[in-house]
Amino acid sequence: MKLALTCLLLLIPLNSIAGQIAFTFDDAPMGDSAVMSGQQRTDQLIKALKSAAIPDALFFVKADAIDASGDKRLKQYIEAGYHLANHSYAHHSANKTPVNAFLIDAYKAHLQLKDYSNVLPYFRFPYLHYGQDTAAINALQAGLLELGYLNGYVTVDNFDWYMNALLNNAKKAGKVIDYEKFGALYVEVIWQAIVFYDAIAVKTLGRSPKHVLLLHENDTSALFLAKLARHIRQQGWEIITPQQAYSDPIAAELPATNFHKQGRIAAMANAKGTSESLLRHPAENQQYLDKLFNENSVFEE
Ligand SMILES: [Zn+2]
Repeated sequence: MKLALTCLLLLIPLNSIAGQIAFTFDDAPMGDSAVMSGQQRTDQLIKALKSAAIPDALFFVKADAIDASGDKRLKQYIEAGYHLANHSYAHHSANKTPVNAFLIDAYKAHLQLKDYSNVLPYFRFPYLHYGQDTAAINALQAGLLELGYLNGYVTVDNFDWYMNALLNNAKKAGKVIDYEKFGALYVEVIWQAIVFYDAIAVKTLGRSPKHVLLLHENDTSALFLAKLARHIRQQGWEIITPQQAYSDPIAAELPATNFHKQGRIAAMANAKGTSESLLRHPAENQQYLDKLFNENSVFEE
């Protein structure tokens, strides 16, 4: 009995956590939408982060969006204990912008951010576009490193931005929105993305890494974050800080591939020979999500 209990105690810490994941939000500070003002969104996001006891969150800032109200909202995130990072100034695609012009844009954002406290030295490429070819990708990595930036990669890509667009389009069209149903589908879609990329990681690395979830500083995050966090924990996962997530060994090396737009796990799998078509979840698709939300009658005329 005593031996069995000891075994049990030894096993619990190893088995009790199914996975670990950190929350990051791109494109902060986003402007007013049909659903809520930017200010309401920030207030609601902070409330959700606090109520869900999410230990930290990283807001990737699109620096040309910092007006007086945006500045106030970024400071609110900082005061609440969360962190900021660089998501470029004008949100250009690195696949369509010459290397030097892209680095100048990143530096412009750097100058905008340098006087804020709680800024972490991570850069996230808009659209997860890392550069148009191997030479550009390597030059951008080197240039950003010279500016002091580490790669703010994601491991779990998804179409939260499109679900947010569906919500806003329905609102603009005057439709009745079933927020209960919307929230349940939103959580399910994000959760499926987590499971999908974790399974690829286990297959590729032989283990579940510390994950970085890509979300946006949008209405769906503000509305459904607490629900999402609850679901993730109900599945036995732990929500960690972005700093903890970026301490994972997968942060150390850029995978040898030009395929980065589905995140780091997908890039690693692709570098080891998995075809791109297998590295994108079916729900990362507008028609798929249109159909899903229509079939579930989330919006009524
Ligand atoms: Zn972005």
